[in-house]
Amino acid sequence: MQAARLHEYTDEMENALQIDEIDRPEATRSDHVVVEVEGAGWCQTDNHIIEGMWTDYVEQDLPMTLGHENAGTVVEVGPEVRTVEEGEKVICHPVMTCGVCRQCRLGNDMYCVNLAFPGLTTDGGFAEYLLTNERAVIPLPGEVNTTDIAPHADAGITAYHAVKKAANELNPGDHAVVIGVGGLGHIGLQCLEAMTAAEITALDIKAEARELAADLGAHHTLDPSEEDVEKEILAITDGRGAEQIIDFVGADQTTAIGPKIAGSGGDHHVVGYGGHVHEPSQTLVDGEFSYVGTLVGEYTELQELVRLVERGDVELRTSQYDLGDINTVAERLEHNEIEGRAVITP
Ligand SMILES: [Zn+2]
Ligand SMILES: [Zn+2]
Repeated sequence: MQAARLHEYTDEMENALQIDEIDRPEATRSDHVVVEVEGAGWCQTDNHIIEGMWTDYVEQDLPMTLGHENAGTVVEVGPEVRTVEEGEKVICHPVMTCGVCRQCRLGNDMYCVNLAFPGLTTDGGFAEYLLTNERAVIPLPGEVNTTDIAPHADAGITAYHAVKKAANELNPGDHAVVIGVGGLGHIGLQCLEAMTAAEITALDIKAEARELAADLGAHHTLDPSEEDVEKEILAITDGRGAEQIIDFVGADQTTAIGPKIAGSGGDHHVVGYGGHVHEPSQTLVDGEFSYVGTLVGEYTELQELVRLVERGDVELRTSQYDLGDINTVAERLEHNEIEGRAVITP
């Protein structure tokens, strides 16, 4: 089968991945599931993996097939698999968890001590077939298009996970700020709309992104390159500040916004990453401001997100690309030239 593989870490996105002919994976373990990939979302994390940014955090054996936002049709299952069968459409939670460690038993899928992460630590879905396990797959109703839903496997679930934490703190009339209305941000904004009665302001330096935010229900939009965000948010909230800030960018400039616009007890959820947090510790004491990290989300949260998609509450803006065009996607995302989410169709 064909697979887009990373052979060497590089900053040159135009030849980041190589299309190789490799063996199709097989269900060699009793819980294995082999999925024919119909959609694999391209993620900023793929650019970060290519640049070698993950080598300090996880073990990677190159060459490796990238792609961690996968959906498709089951073509083979191990002998003990009971909840899915051949021919069923599935979306794949990004990690293969063990199910028996303490964190798995607590439902903290992302903390599993035995996890494998296809596309990050093992071969992923930028290939015709993907090997995963029964605990990772969520069967989809027949009318759901696997290509369209694929990015929810990571982009969607990550946005949902952050929004769910924020939603728990947002009472009707509270104010939420979404920073960055790109691939994740436009999903997060819709989740906020569906799950809270908060007033929402979306920040983005791109006019099209602000228009998309307004279309998707943001009550206010601001251009942080032109407008004084602190002054505007304080004016909108009668001087109170925003209760929850969800940062889908995670650059130095965006992490610096939180302390200026957060109200007492406010949180700044860091979803996008790549920059730094530079704040005096006193920032976290005054008003008990917090930075909150976001690492993907739980299996059950992906189930919940699929329900929101079925209800029509969350709509993904996607564009599709052939496996052979994968480096064009890498390059375009690097230059912030992709609207919504790019999906590879191997
Ligand atoms: Zn991703
Ligand atoms: Zn586990």
